[in-house]
Formats: sequence, C-alpha cells, structure tokens
Amino acid sequence: MTGAFLIKPNVIEIREVNTPEPKSGEVRVRLNRVGICGSDVHLFLGHRPLSQPIIIGHEGLGIVDKMGESVTTLKAGDRVVIEPNIPCRQCVYCLSGRGNICINKRVIGLTENGCFAEYVTLPSAFCWRVPDEISDDDAVAVEPSAVACHALFTSTSKPGDTIAVIGLGAIGLLITQLALRLGYKVVAIELNENKLALAAGWGAISIKSVNSDPAKSALINACSNYNVSSLFECGGSEYTASLATTIAPRGSEIILAGLSEKLATFQPLKIVREGIHIIPSIIYGHPGDFRRTIQLIQSKVICPRKIISGTFRLPQLQEALELASRGNETKLVVTI
Ligand SMILES: [Zn+2]
Ligand SMILES: [Zn+2]
Repeated sequence: MTGAFLIKPNVIEIREVNTPEPKSGEVRVRLNRVGICGSDVHLFLGHRPLSQPIIIGHEGLGIVDKMGESVTTLKAGDRVVIEPNIPCRQCVYCLSGRGNICINKRVIGLTENGCFAEYVTLPSAFCWRVPDEISDDDAVAVEPSAVACHALFTSTSKPGDTIAVIGLGAIGLLITQLALRLGYKVVAIELNENKLALAAGWGAISIKSVNSDPAKSALINACSNYNVSSLFECGGSEYTASLATTIAPRGSEIILAGLSEKLATFQPLKIVREGIHIIPSIIYGHPGDFRRTIQLIQSKVICPRKIISGTFRLPQLQEALELASRGNETKLVVTI
C-alpha cells in the first residue's frame, strides 16, 4: 500500500509498504478521507520528536475491508470513523475510569502507523459505524468534534450561560458551534479575522485579541460584563494560557484544552482569592464521547464540515502540512 511517512521534521515521504493484516479483534479500514490535526502539524514541525519514520494522521474515515478473528460487530463495507486513542484498560487510571490519561495508551498515527495511507488496522471497538445521514465531510471531523464535546461537557456551565473560547482553531470553533447550538452564549477570542467572522456568522460575540495591555483590559471587561462562567483555552500557546488566567472573571473556571509545552504564567493571588478553577480536558472518554458526538451530528445539532477550509490528495500531504503550519486554516482534509 501507499503510505505517507514523516521521516524527519518538515519532510514527508510517500512510500510503498506491506498492507497491514488485522490481528484477532481488529479490523482493517480502507481509508478515504483523513483530517489534518494540530497535533500532526506539531509532529511535522518537529515539536515532538519521533524515534523512527512513521505514517502520521489519526482523523480517519474509511470502509471496513477485512476483519480479524472474533470480530462480530462490524462487517466488510461498513463506513467507519476511527477513534485513534486506545487506552490499555489495565493501568490505575484506566481502572478508575480515566482512560483518556492512560499511561500505556496506543495512539494511531503517533505510537504506531496512522491514517495518511491506504489502510490502517485497529481494534474493532475503536471503529464507529457512521449512520448514512452523515456526509463524509461531517464524518471526517468526528474525532475533533469528540474533543470539543468532551471539553464543553467537562465544564460546569450550562445552556443559557455565557462561555468564552480563546483560540479558534478546529477545537475552539467546534466548541463554539456546539455551545451556540445548545443555547449557550459564546464570546470568541482570536487574532485571525476570518476565523472570528466564521464564529460571528454562527452567532458568537467575536472579539479580536492582540497582545497589548489595552486589548487585555477590554477582554477583562468583556468577560466580566457578559458574566462568563467558563473560559476554554484552545489557543495552545503559553500566551493564550496566561491570557485565560488574566481575563477569567471572579468565580469562573478555565478549561485548559490547549497543549503548550512552554511555561505559562498566572497570579496565584488572583486565582485563589477569586476562586477560579482550572480544569484540564484531554481528548475524550471511551466510548461515551464518540457515541455522543455521532448522535449530535446525526441529529444535525452540529455540522463539523463547516470548519473544513481545504482539501488535498495524499501525494500533496507535504504541501498541505506546510499550509496548515501557517495557522490560517481551520481544517484541511486529505483524500486518499
Ligand atoms: Zn486530532
Ligand atoms: Zn491505561
């Protein structure tokens, strides 16, 4: 089969390799669409080192093509979306129901070959059949939508409350869309005008964020005046993480979903005295979040294809990752 390997930072190489065979309990999926995630871009840029060349990509949609032994829940020809994080079900975190922080997690496209290829194999329990009413473009964005669902439902805010979303990448936009559709009010904070306009078109109150003291004061006032009860940090930089703690109103909570490895700053006096909670949200819980997300798309509550900003073919993956790394795209999709 053909697979796109990340062989070193900034270099994708298309190679011919053996087609993987499904083991017992696994299925093989013939991929047809794969989303580019922010984490693929981080890998591509070398922010997270790889020990060997690997096929990256984890937002995969395809057709079940072959079943390993003892697979009974899927059949050849089923259209499926893959859930790429596979907890071990044995570590202390898995046993306490927190598989999303499993220490032995298998991650398709990170710890093993991923989806920028013709085929991928994985446990059948992590392949979700997609109902016919869901288009391919909506289905390919199930995985980031599950991340957004998990983050929104991690917060204690409820429909009718006002939340703030900092950073309108794919996850920030999907949280914004889901929250608006469920009846929350959303203050969207971002630098890029096009992304702000997209969120405003869905009904968000869009505020341009620039790194200056007057802009920060304006954000503090806006969050306080709108009674923001939860802030979602989706910018993924130390700047946006620090900003969240600066602008969070008294009594609010910050859902940290961005993955900055750099140190952010906060003022303990403010956090303690104003009773601000900081809550992490990483990926999703298995199996609840994928099930819930597919249901939300099927019932037309959310329409994740609205964030797709471009489509490429597999041989153009290098070009697509270079474009994505410039930060102006909301979701690029690769067709296989
Ligand atoms: Zn992803
Ligand atoms: Zn585990």
